[in-house]
Amino acid sequence: MSKTAAIVGAGIAGIAAAIRLAVKGYRVDAFEANAYPGGKLSGFSLDGFRFDAGPSLFTMPQLVEDLFRLADRNPNDYFEYRRLNETCRYFWDDHTYLTAWADRDAFAREVESQLGEPADHLLAHLADSAAKYHITEKLFLHRSLHKLATWFNRDALYGYLNLPKLEVFKTMNRANEQRFQNPKLVQLFNRYATYNGSDPYQTPATMNIIPHLEYNIGAFFPKEGMIGITNNLVRLAEELGVRFHFNTRVTELVTEGERIVGVRTENESKPKPYDVVISNMDVVNTFRRLLPNARQPERILRQPKSSSGLIFYWGIRREFPELGLHNIFFSSDYRAEFDHIFNRKTLSDDPTVYLNITSKHKPDDAPPGCENWFILINAPNNTGQDWDALIAKTRQNVIQKLSQNLGVDIAPLIACEAILDPIQIENRTSSSQGALYGNSSNNRFAAFLRHANFSHQFRNLYFVGGSVHPGGGIPLCLLSAKIATDLL
Ligand code: FAD
Repeated sequence: MSKTAAIVGAGIAGIAAAIRLAVKGYRVDAFEANAYPGGKLSGFSLDGFRFDAGPSLFTMPQLVEDLFRLADRNPNDYFEYRRLNETCRYFWDDHTYLTAWADRDAFAREVESQLGEPADHLLAHLADSAAKYHITEKLFLHRSLHKLATWFNRDALYGYLNLPKLEVFKTMNRANEQRFQNPKLVQLFNRYATYNGSDPYQTPATMNIIPHLEYNIGAFFPKEGMIGITNNLVRLAEELGVRFHFNTRVTELVTEGERIVGVRTENESKPKPYDVVISNMDVVNTFRRLLPNARQPERILRQPKSSSGLIFYWGIRREFPELGLHNIFFSSDYRAEFDHIFNRKTLSDDPTVYLNITSKHKPDDAPPGCENWFILINAPNNTGQDWDALIAKTRQNVIQKLSQNLGVDIAPLIACEAILDPIQIENRTSSSQGALYGNSSNNRFAAFLRHANFSHQFRNLYFVGGSVHPGGGIPLCLLSAKIATDLL
């Protein structure tokens, strides 16, 4: 008889783990508290506009394709995407403007003409980013850091020999200041710390690995929008026999000695036994809520969390040809902005505004002549701030900043609005403090302070998702599912 597996949560990592287990022959039940799959990677419609609720940048599509191939399917039969020829448009309040082209040489020329920064500085930075990636890739991204075998092989040896190149003892900001003359380019590359919810003035320069994904491997757009990733993986999972149970919150993992012997849900009083349990619930809340009587790995659970986000979804009754799919309007004092987020735990009056408009590539996401604006402001994680006041203040600041930059009053153009704040993020996905990426990576040992993909206490319990190794963001979540299921 086939073995059985329960997945707690149908976020992207839970779905990927379900697919991998089904391919291994397990009978899989995926329990999801919400009425829909995908967790943060979900979407919704409002007054004729469609919005992706969370992630907007798609990198490393091969990790999605791997799941189809693993199941002997042709990814093209399910899922289409294309490479972007520009990764982002950057705007500063002094009207400096820059397009980050996917073509590295074109980007380097743009940097030289717009910012006066020698093109070879940019090319050297991207080469360094690639080198960092190749040193860490096999060691950190594809394996559990918590197994001895990871540390005794050729990849590890390569890592030890090249350790200085990772620049663990320098901050990202310091490394970028040493690389670039123009503070605007320092700011642009400091921005990559936010891709895992960290502070460029604290996180180690090792995180300069991140631009490699966007510039050297590429940024992509799924034909159906980001929600297409979730929908097509769910379709694949269902074809493989995975049973999704929506509106079904797991309330307890029943333990006996070194095993999980039952999964209790809010819909059934009697716990159901499974051979294997994989939690896609944030690891802090897996322990605090589902395993309150187990030994709590306090050192890991109490690590400072990543930043969160404040998101405005606006249906806009006008088109802006000067905007692209991804746009950034930088704050004039980046250091002060991060000081507000990570030290003062509040929002500055001049936040950097990220504006994503999928209707640029998928016109049916907005009515004719309109655009669907997804605006993300990096925000502190939830520590009990007065969010209503912060949202009201920030909404005004964002309108003012965009109006000034675009030369038109934005407020009367907002046809409809939805808002997502750190409290809602926490409520909708059980992410501790509404953090977008689990623990922050502000500490140089952060990689070692994420929970392993397996339990040290319960032999049949595994962990996947943005709160555990190797980290947050779609690619790393997909890799967490690979690492966890490879350990079985
Ligand atoms: P989550 O998405 O956190 O989902 C967990 C699921 O488990 C939820 O559906 C929840 O309801 C369910 N669950 C929890 N507890 C239980 C329980 N007890 N019982 C049943 N179900 C339960 N990443 C990128 O790669 N690119 C981006 O551009 C990007 N931008 C982002 C922007 C925003 C606004 C946000 C919020 C995130 C962004 N991210 C981005 C991060 C990315 O979305 C996440 O890292 C990733 O989606 C997390 O996936 P996950 O598998 O950890 O699960």
